[in-house]
Amino acid sequence: MSDDLFKKVLSHAKEYGFVFQSSEIYDGLSAVYDYGPNGVELKKNIRDYWWKSMVQLHQNIVGLDAAIFMHPTTWKASGHVDAFNDPLIDNKDSKKRYRADVLIEDYVEKLENKVQKEIKKARKRFGDNFDEAQFTATHPRVMKYREQQKNILQRMAQSLEKNDLADVKALIEELGIADPVSGSKNWTDVKQFNLMFGTKLGADAGSAMDLYLRPETAQGIFVNFLNVQKTMRMKIPFGIAQTGKAFRNEIVARQFIFRMREFEQMEMQFFVRPGDEIKWYEYWKEERLKWHKSLGFGDAYYRFHDHEKLAHYANAAADIEFKFPFGFKELEGIHSRTDFDLSQHEKYSGKKMQYFDPEINQRYTPYVIETSIGLDRMFLAVFSASLQDEILSDGTSRTVMKIPAILAPTKVAVLPLLKKDGLPEIAQSIVNDLQWDFKVTYDEKDAIGRRYRRQDAVGTPYCVTVDHQTKDDQTVTLRERDSMKQIRIHITALRQHIQDQFDLRNWLK
Ligand code: ATP
Repeated sequence: MSDDLFKKVLSHAKEYGFVFQSSEIYDGLSAVYDYGPNGVELKKNIRDYWWKSMVQLHQNIVGLDAAIFMHPTTWKASGHVDAFNDPLIDNKDSKKRYRADVLIEDYVEKLENKVQKEIKKARKRFGDNFDEAQFTATHPRVMKYREQQKNILQRMAQSLEKNDLADVKALIEELGIADPVSGSKNWTDVKQFNLMFGTKLGADAGSAMDLYLRPETAQGIFVNFLNVQKTMRMKIPFGIAQTGKAFRNEIVARQFIFRMREFEQMEMQFFVRPGDEIKWYEYWKEERLKWHKSLGFGDAYYRFHDHEKLAHYANAAADIEFKFPFGFKELEGIHSRTDFDLSQHEKYSGKKMQYFDPEINQRYTPYVIETSIGLDRMFLAVFSASLQDEILSDGTSRTVMKIPAILAPTKVAVLPLLKKDGLPEIAQSIVNDLQWDFKVTYDEKDAIGRRYRRQDAVGTPYCVTVDHQTKDDQTVTLRERDSMKQIRIHITALRQHIQDQFDLRNWLK
């Protein structure tokens, strides 16, 4: 994993019609992106894969599509108006703006790099006998770095919790943190910056209502809790799932579609009996990790990060982190949110948000387990783990996107070997048939080898080639993307053969 891979991800995403910069002809809009023809298919397939696993395969989870605009009191109740902030700091010389917590975390990361260097050196010296755990627990320099890391993070967490922004600035100064661009240490005070985008409803300046673009989809679910529960006669435990756009005015937006200002979330809120929440929290942690692993990238791409410092409303929280080209980072959050959200909405709306549980003859405000994943982040995870350069046995190389077949933008490419002798017509008739079941593409331009490479580069799992033999015996060549194995198969058997590879049972069971 490296900068090189990340650069390759960026250029490949653009060159092959996956992701474009928003309004590129006007030099783009920072941290806003558009999905091209291949990207929109991949994104849709990821969304479907999530939706099916959640809604179709759980009798006790139902869907919802709440509006992006919500009554502004929603965001008072949820705490976003008062607390959805990032601490920002400006450098007076470079005029660049940073997240104060990120500057400090980057400093801690540098200490960690020093630790890793020591470990590497020692491993070289001790060879097979090297015991990393023992080394890090006893080596004085490593111990010192680790102690420093702990102290810095602890102090930052405490200061942020108390909203003691002067101390956050003091910490930056004590650590001698310089602007990564200019090297200057001339900092402004730290200020809180609210991440919600504001807008107005109504044309008349006097009576216009201040609104926010939703910063998460979750609140649409909470305010509809009783509507859904009653109309669908849901019994606890049950879940409500939703996918949709969210907006955050991120201070530092970099790393491509990892951190965007407009992005899409896939969230599920699972309502449980108070006291049962930790059991369900553990259940959803495992379920969600299983979902990720079902895609077949391998266990090494995932790890849990259990939160030590919890948000005020949570009694347990963990991230599923993914090995992105720039390291392990949060891909999905699983949070045990207690009854915080429903109780807050009850308080602010004056409407009861309770459930009568016939099994125990009690009325209560349910507790909530949330699973929350960024669709765009998931796209980046799939995209970067799929993109590979391979050296082939004949010494040539190919770029191939080993996108899990069920997510691939195009499932089948149909290719006539030559542009004559009736081969294109046969190929077209295969397209006309298969396109009822799959996203299919037809390509007759260039030599067959080049066409295979083109399909490899966009992750098409199957190529069907029509040649002269097809005219004699109605068989075609079916080439598989990853193994590059080719088999001969009768045209009438194609559909069933391919269909088996996209059967959800083979992925999610
Ligand atoms: P981060 O710490 O990376 O800012 P977060 O903890 O604020 O993320 P949540 O509020 O838990 O994120 O949102 C749930 C999920 O939404 C995240 O796990 C991530 O996949 C996605 N997400 C959050 N912010 C962004 C963003 N700016 N761009 C793209 N995806 C995002």
